[in-house]
Amino acid sequence: MKPSFRPRLINDPFSDPGLFIPFLFQRRALLFDLGDLSRLSSRDLLKLSHIFVTHTHMDHFIGFDQLLRLLLGRDREVYLYGPSQFIQKVRAKLSAYTWNLIENYENTLSIQVTEIRGEKVLVQRYSSSNRFRPTGPPVEIPFRGNVLSEKSFSIDVVSLDHKIDCLGLSLRENFSINIIKEGLKEQRLPVGPWLREFKDALYEGRDPTEKFRVVWTDMDGGVRQKEYSIGELKEKIARISPGQKITYLADMIGSPENMEKAVNLARDSHHLFIEAPFLDRDRDIARRKYHLTAKEAGLIAARARVGELTLFHFSPRYYGREQELVGEAMAAFSAGV
Ligand SMILES: [Zn+2]
Ligand SMILES: [Zn+2]
Repeated sequence: MKPSFRPRLINDPFSDPGLFIPFLFQRRALLFDLGDLSRLSSRDLLKLSHIFVTHTHMDHFIGFDQLLRLLLGRDREVYLYGPSQFIQKVRAKLSAYTWNLIENYENTLSIQVTEIRGEKVLVQRYSSSNRFRPTGPPVEIPFRGNVLSEKSFSIDVVSLDHKIDCLGLSLRENFSINIIKEGLKEQRLPVGPWLREFKDALYEGRDPTEKFRVVWTDMDGGVRQKEYSIGELKEKIARISPGQKITYLADMIGSPENMEKAVNLARDSHHLFIEAPFLDRDRDIARRKYHLTAKEAGLIAARARVGELTLFHFSPRYYGREQELVGEAMAAFSAGV
């Protein structure tokens, strides 16, 4: 079965955190954390629609400028999410540059910033067409744990203690639609944008007897089409399975409250990405710096009963000794103690 999302860490575990989550068969991706992006191609960066910043320590936010530079001059809309003070931080970044010539650009770049602050969510929009000046006060809405909800997936967040708020993030797919290659071959259908429309029809729960037309351009430029009922095409080319859940936990202290919140967010995730900066024997340093130990990371994974565990954010003090961090986390993951 091919998962609909294939998350991958952008950098090695000693470098800036960041999880790139491309969508299968779509030119679209999500990003958890906005650290150094230089290992991502422009092609991948241009897929980004929604970006979630756990907190604005430099290693999680320095990629903002790089992304802004690439997007400037393009007709694009991006959505940024972050913890309390996030709107102010984005505004500070935007106001650091001079925008006197930008109004003459043909295309408009819009940035919608959502700040999760306690019980509420604040939303502020910025546009290149008015030099990224705020158009008015932020719109305020109540926060209920969920910051983005689309047909096929939603994003849950929780605020964790890192001496400041740091967001824990979880992507929940409603259900997963896998397209069977052999089915496509038998029907002589090519992959293409129509697959997204077809998936959307299934996510929307449309009537299976409703007609669905597959339209594509063949090698010599001719437009071809075939018509099915939604139910018939589903039978021939798709398999439905329970959706994936991917959780990302960055900087947080291993306090009992944080551990409990993290376990609740990550529960039954197929894949947990979690920071493991320090060995448990260096727990005092971890506490002082408001970070987890590798053992605590493994315990969260065990208690949340996750399927797969990937570690990141190793402290540079363990260069060449990363196997100790991995070993400690994995031992706690399998033993659960
Ligand atoms: Zn931090
Ligand atoms: Zn960090």
